[in-house]
Amino acid sequence: MPGYEVSRKLEKLGWRSSDTAEISFTDVEVPAANLLGEENGGFRLVMANFAWERLLMAVGAVGAMQRLLDTAISYADEREAFGRPIGKFQAIRHQIAEMATKAEVSRALTYEALRLFHSGQPCIQQVSMAKLLTQRTALEIADQTLQIHGGYGYTREYGIERAVRDARLGPIGGGTDEVMKEIIGKTLGL
Ligand SMILES: Cc1cc2nc3c(=O)[nH]c(=O)nc-3n(C[C@H](O)[C@H](O)[C@H](O)COP(=O)(O)OP(=O)(O)OC[C@H]3O[C@@H](n4cnc5c(N)ncnc54)[C@H](O)[C@@H]3O)c2cc1C
Repeated sequence: MPGYEVSRKLEKLGWRSSDTAEISFTDVEVPAANLLGEENGGFRLVMANFAWERLLMAVGAVGAMQRLLDTAISYADEREAFGRPIGKFQAIRHQIAEMATKAEVSRALTYEALRLFHSGQPCIQQVSMAKLLTQRTALEIADQTLQIHGGYGYTREYGIERAVRDARLGPIGGGTDEVMKEIIGKTLGL
C-alpha cells in the first residue's frame, strides 16, 4: 500500500528467526474490503485476542521447560566429574528436582487456564497468572540448564544459550510481567 514503509530491521537478543522491524504508515488508505471487523473497533479486537495469545505463550513455555528439563537430566546422567555422574551430587539433583517441580506447577496452572478458556468461563485471572509464572520460570529453567552444562552450556554447540536468549522475551512480549500483575491485582479487587 502506498505510504507503508519498513524503515529498518532491529537486531535482537533472541527470537532471531522472527524479524522485528520499524514500520511506518503515512496517510495509508485502507479499502473497505480490507477492513478487519468494524471501523474504529480495532482496539477491542486486539484486546479480545490477548487471552489466547497469552495462553499460547504459556503453552509454549511449558513445552520449552519440559525439553530443557529432559536435556538437563540427560546431561546430569551422562557427564561424570570426580568419579560419578554429576546428577549423583546432591547439589545438582536438588536443583533438577526444583526445576521439575516448577515445570509441573507451570503446566498445571496453564492447563487450568486453558480449561477455563475453552469452556467459556471467566479466565483472565488464571491466564494472566499462567503467563506471568511460565515466562519467568522458563527463563529460570533455561539458565539453570545452561549452568548444569557448565562451559558447554555457554557454547552454541548445545542450543541452550539460544534457549536462554529466546526465553528472555517471555516476560516482556504479550504484556509485561508488571502489566500481568496489574491485571491480576484488579481481578483480586485491588
Ligand atoms: C521481539 C518482539 C516481538 C514483539 N512482537 C509483537 C507482536 O507481534 N505484536 C504486538 O502487538 N507487539 C509485539 N511486541 C511488543 C510487546 O508486546 C511490547 O514490547 C510489550 O508489551 C511492552 O511494551 P513496551 O515495549 O511499549 O514497554 P513499555 O510499555 O514502554 O514498558 C517499559 C517498562 O515499564 C513497565 N510498565 C509500563 N507500564 C507500567 C505500569 N502501568 N505499571 C508498572 N510498570 C509498567 C513495563 O512493565 C516495562 O518494564 C513485540 C516485542 C518484541 C521485543
